[in-house]
This record gives sequence, C-alpha cells and structure tokens, in this order.
Amino acid sequence: MSNILNFNPEQTVLVTGGAGFIGSNLVDKLLALGNKVVSFDSFNDFYDPKAKARNVQEHLKHPNFTLVRGDLRDEHALARAFAHGPFDVVVHLAAMAGVLPSLADPTLYMDINVTGAQKLLNQIAASSKTTRLIFGSSSSVYGARSGECFRETDAIDQPLSPYAASKVAGEAICYAYHHTTKMPVVCLRFFTVFGPRQRPDLAIRKFANLIDQGKSIDVYGDGTSKRDYTFVGDIVSGIISSMSYESPGFDVINLGRSEPVILKEMIATIEKAMGKKAKLVQKPVQMADMPYTYAAIDKARQVLGYKPETSFEAGVEQFVAWFLKNKEEIQSEIPLTSALEVIH
Ligand code: NAD
Repeated sequence: MSNILNFNPEQTVLVTGGAGFIGSNLVDKLLALGNKVVSFDSFNDFYDPKAKARNVQEHLKHPNFTLVRGDLRDEHALARAFAHGPFDVVVHLAAMAGVLPSLADPTLYMDINVTGAQKLLNQIAASSKTTRLIFGSSSSVYGARSGECFRETDAIDQPLSPYAASKVAGEAICYAYHHTTKMPVVCLRFFTVFGPRQRPDLAIRKFANLIDQGKSIDVYGDGTSKRDYTFVGDIVSGIISSMSYESPGFDVINLGRSEPVILKEMIATIEKAMGKKAKLVQKPVQMADMPYTYAAIDKARQVLGYKPETSFEAGVEQFVAWFLKNKEEIQSEIPLTSALEVIH
C-alpha cells in the first residue's frame, strides 16, 4: 500500500471485467482495503470461463462484494449493476483483449470495446452522483515506434490492429462524454501486464505452459522484440491511486515499468524460474505486433505517486509460483453454476 496515493476506503467502486486477470487482482486489493465493490462481467469464452469463476470464488465470500453477471452491450444488465450504486468510481476493464485475435473478428472488438464502452458511459452520465471513470486503455495505441519511450502527448493515430484502434476509439468516446457531461475520466494505458491469473493467451503464461509440457515455443522474429512488462500488483496500485488523485477532469496516464525486456531475456527468465529449458522455433514477425513498447512513467510518478516495485525477475518468480501451484486446478473443470449470478 506504500505506493498507493490518497487511498479512500469509503469509495464504492464498480469494476467492469472484474472476473478477468487485472480486474480480479484489483477486486482482491479493494476488498482488502475496505472498499465496497460491485463486479460486472459477462464471463465470456475468450478464454475458459471456469478460470474467471475461480478468480471470483474468494470475492463471493466477502460481505462488501456484489457480483452482477451481464454484458456491457445490454442496457438492462448495466442497469442491474447500477442499481447497486451510486458509484464514486467505475473502473472499466471489461473488453475483448488481445491483439492477434482482433484480426479475426474486428467487428466483435469494436462492438464490445467501443459500443460497449459508450453504453457504460451513458449509464454513468445518467447517474445521480458524480462518478469518476477509469478507462483501461493500452500501450497498443502508440503503434509501431522506434527509439524513444512512449509519452502521453505522442500522436496515437496509427494503431496496428483492430484491438489497438478500439482502444484509441475508447479513449476518444471517453473524452467526448467528459466534454459534454463534465464526467471526470482517467485513461490509463497499461503496458503488457503479467502476474498471477494472467490470461492464457499472453506470452509469459503461454510459454510457461509450453515449457512445463516440454513443447516447443514459436518465437516470432529474431527474439529481439521488447516489451515493457509490468507486474499486475503495480498496475493495481496505479489504478487505485488514480481513483482519488486531484484530476484535471480528463487525463491520460501511462502505467508501465519503463524497463523493456527483450524476448530472449523474457524466455530465459521463465526458464530460470521454472528450472527447465525451452525448445524454441523461429517464425516470421507478425504484422500487427509492435516491435517494442516502452513507457515514459514520469507523469504517473508525479501525479499518482506511482512507483513500480516489482522487478521483472521477481514478478516472473511470483507468476511461476502461482502457475505451478494451480497447474492441476487450471486444467481441471469447475462447473459454472448459478452461484455466479448471486448478488454477494
Ligand atoms: P481479461 O480478458 O482477463 O478481462 C476482461 C474481462 O472482461 C473478462 O473477464 C471478460 O469476461 C469481461 N468481458 C469481456 N467482454 C465483456 C462484455 N461485453 N461485458 C462484460 N464483461 C465483458 O483481460 P485483462 O488482461 O484482465 O484486461 C483487462 C483490461 O485491460 C482490458 O480492457 C484490456 O484491454 C486492458 N489491457 C490489458 C493488458 C494486459 O497486458 N493484460 C494490457 C493493456 C490493456
């Protein structure tokens, strides 16, 4: 908690995408700090919904927690969530995530990430209370770059994938609602988040699984692409700080670690943490992939008191410990039950 600024346990918070990777880690922390939390999630099948059911298992036991299962695009479902308000803060994390899958179904990405966000903005605008929206944006908005770190003031007019374009559009629709309704909005651009409960489609989780099973890993390009991997606990601290800092009304802030790691080094770090060697197969570069990401985090440091505390190596060790501990459970089936519809 040392790196969380102006924390306020009195705030009632709606977390959309609360059953997902980042959302469920955020809900853990908010409940531990004493906030009332409503989690809204469709438990979609982008990856196994059972993983999401496991993510919320402990939340459901907490008296300050309410789960509403529903789709962002359904106004009635959103109204069910807002009936548990009014909210001081809405943290909007529900989305179709992932760059490459967005090439296969761009319409779905636009529908959920843009139209869904706009429906949520409508609900917030109609709320009886001034509600701060925190929009989960992405480093992908910056597109292909070379040399410099990515600053919030940089142009974001050349996204490389429908996913990235949907995040640019998401930020834009947030600004339009802020402009017309004075709704306070903070867009946080997350840089490749990793840690316990990481999505199965993301590289570190995928690679750990393949190494564990003795299967080969496809390495796209020459292994020198770079990512500014950021531990989920640091992202959660940044989100919580952005819930109550003195905001100018509309703001965009990078949350990264500002220490990019090359792909070969990332694999070596996982190998070390797992005590097992990877088998690598080189593949051509994928067009929608950014060659590198690198966050300038001076603004986050200055306005949020943000200070990433977990090194890449320590974060991978925590991730691998979680992965190995839950390996059997991750692969076993937990039936989805009506318990997921339960309010509490
Ligand atoms: P995730 O897929 O684990 O979580 C997203 C959650 O949203 C899921 O639980 C899903 O069921 C839910 N959801 C999807 N569509 C919905 C809909 N129509 N209605 C209601 N719920 C819906 O992904 P994550 O990695 O936790 O990402 C959370 C947010 O952060 C996303 O907006 C993502 O774009 C953004 N982000 C993530 C990363 C990263 O590295 N993980 C990086 C940049 C930005």
